[in-house]
Amino acid sequence: MKFCSNCVMPDTKPGIVLDDRGFCNACRTKEIKETIDWTARRKELDAIVDDIKAQNNPFYDCIVAVSGGKDSWYQAAVLAEEYGLKVLCVTLAAHVPTTEGIDNLNEMIKDLNVDHMKITIKPSVFRKIRQKCFLRQGEPNWAEHCAMFSSVVNTALIYDVPLVVWGEDIAFEFGGLQRAESKPSALAINKSDLIKEKTIHDWLDDDISERDIFFYKYPDYQKLQDAGVKSIYLGHFLRWYGRQNYEFVKERGFVGRRAGPLPGNFLDYDNIDEKLCEINIWFKYLKFGFWRATDQTCYDIWNDRMTRDEAVDIVNRLQDEFPGNDLNHFLRFHDITEEQFWETVEKFRNHDLWEKVDDEWKLKYKLEK
Ligand SMILES: [Zn+2]
Repeated sequence: MKFCSNCVMPDTKPGIVLDDRGFCNACRTKEIKETIDWTARRKELDAIVDDIKAQNNPFYDCIVAVSGGKDSWYQAAVLAEEYGLKVLCVTLAAHVPTTEGIDNLNEMIKDLNVDHMKITIKPSVFRKIRQKCFLRQGEPNWAEHCAMFSSVVNTALIYDVPLVVWGEDIAFEFGGLQRAESKPSALAINKSDLIKEKTIHDWLDDDISERDIFFYKYPDYQKLQDAGVKSIYLGHFLRWYGRQNYEFVKERGFVGRRAGPLPGNFLDYDNIDEKLCEINIWFKYLKFGFWRATDQTCYDIWNDRMTRDEAVDIVNRLQDEFPGNDLNHFLRFHDITEEQFWETVEKFRNHDLWEKVDDEWKLKYKLEK
């Protein structure tokens, strides 16, 4: 396990390659972004919007997938206000929402004054799929991502909406499996790092019926193209600053977590809308030796708001905290016992990275200044 010499990302993150300077993919992305002609990119977006306005769409011009988080609020504001598009916001409802998440979503819809549709997928099926994703893959939120991408794009097809807008292309922005260039089209978002090569059909045993999974099934690419549905990453066209988005929406009513950051977190607003996410992220610590504190301090390094030395201190201070706050919700929702939970933890602990010292699991590699 080696760490990036510019930020604090380890090379255990899938897809990360450190170059001869010791820089990771995301740090190289930062350099690539300096060289992009953002005015030209903005013009490409202008052209897409002009096209859509000229179509005089009967219902909506575009769908923005929103969670009530900082980035989706900002995206919807750009499209509805700056570009004057008829925006339909679509949310895949959180099954165990936080009060801040509910407040933020309500505030956002009031603030933007747009139509909003909430899709709530059948709880019994969602529970079963999440449970399998947790027990077999140590990644329960796979179910969420699959349903989010598929339900939003299906909604565009059903309502004949020509544009679906997503935020950043995570593989480019945060350094993932796929590439060193951003792509304008998000058509293949169902094959992104969050989904990999799996589909909902990989999780179907005879306990889930085909008729219960409509919103998990991503439409055929050809069908989308024939229907004239485009899907884009706004981050390809506009320069993306997570922190700036946060400051933009904070002015307009967004609230962070009222009780302060969760265990292991440095920020109080990451994935603020629901309670099942933290354990999913914490599993990265078992598998790859890093989680929230690394991700969050890296954002700030990439945005020139923190030095690497500061990040090292924060990561070393926070990363061993366990996100126990919502463990009971997690167990109840997935219908698993605490014993099953800890068995699963040990199943996914990566012994190349972890060792037992005085009966306590410790990472073998230390992040240093
Ligand atoms: Zn880096």
